[in-house]
Amino acid sequence: MFGRRTNQGYDGYPQQGRRGNLKITIIIGLVMAGFALFKYYSAEQVNPITGEKQHISISADQEIAIGLQSAPQMIQQYGGLYPDQKTQDLVKQVGQKLVQGTIAAKSEYPYEFYVLSDPNTVNAFALPGGQVFITTALLGRLENEAQLAGVLGHEIGHVIHRHGAERIAKMDLTEGLTGAAVIAAGDYQSAQFAQMVGNLINMKYGRDQELESDDFGVRLLIEAGYDPQALMGVMDILEQSSGGQTVPEFQSTHPSPENRREKIMEAIKKYNSGEGTH
Ligand SMILES: [Zn+2]
Repeated sequence: MFGRRTNQGYDGYPQQGRRGNLKITIIIGLVMAGFALFKYYSAEQVNPITGEKQHISISADQEIAIGLQSAPQMIQQYGGLYPDQKTQDLVKQVGQKLVQGTIAAKSEYPYEFYVLSDPNTVNAFALPGGQVFITTALLGRLENEAQLAGVLGHEIGHVIHRHGAERIAKMDLTEGLTGAAVIAAGDYQSAQFAQMVGNLINMKYGRDQELESDDFGVRLLIEAGYDPQALMGVMDILEQSSGGQTVPEFQSTHPSPENRREKIMEAIKKYNSGEGTH
């Protein structure tokens, strides 16, 4: 075996001239890019809750599977689950209040709310399919239950608006990843799946997605009976804690706090007058 040299390339195919290989590579690349573009633009789904048309290539069940699969990695990255059961229960209770008896109840996602031990990273995060997290660093800075509801409501907004699935479709497009295919095959042990989960966990949402989630958060607060003005306090807290601290989900790609405040006030007006709920 060793030292046996043949004029074969990998896979046992006879080697062709370099030029020929390059040409074929380029053609294959173009075909794949074209396919990815086609797939992205043809994969259109209407969001059952918001009614918006979205470029999404996976089903709600697949989102749920990805979220459940990614949760342990997420928990580990933020120092594990916070061991105090009372605190966990409080956050669960507020989270459930936001998804029961509001528009969120119409979605099929099995929501779970967790407190993560990390005392330094001021953050909250939602995985596709309904896994929602908040760090003790952020939780400890909040002043009341309505502010906690504001943070969780924003995260539920990311879930309902399917922002994670939108990111996965974009990842397929930009990185040529076959995320949807990997998920469809149920191949959760594969390297590609692990990489995709890694991307998701460190993923940043876009500016428009953040504003959409703020808007949705206001709606949930009102429907669940909380004062939506609490979100203004959350903005203050985020602004104060961003100096020197990292605020991954909540800061780096978020629109400026002034911009968000303005949009939050608009949303409060809209939903209080009832026009946004039709
Ligand atoms: Zn967000």
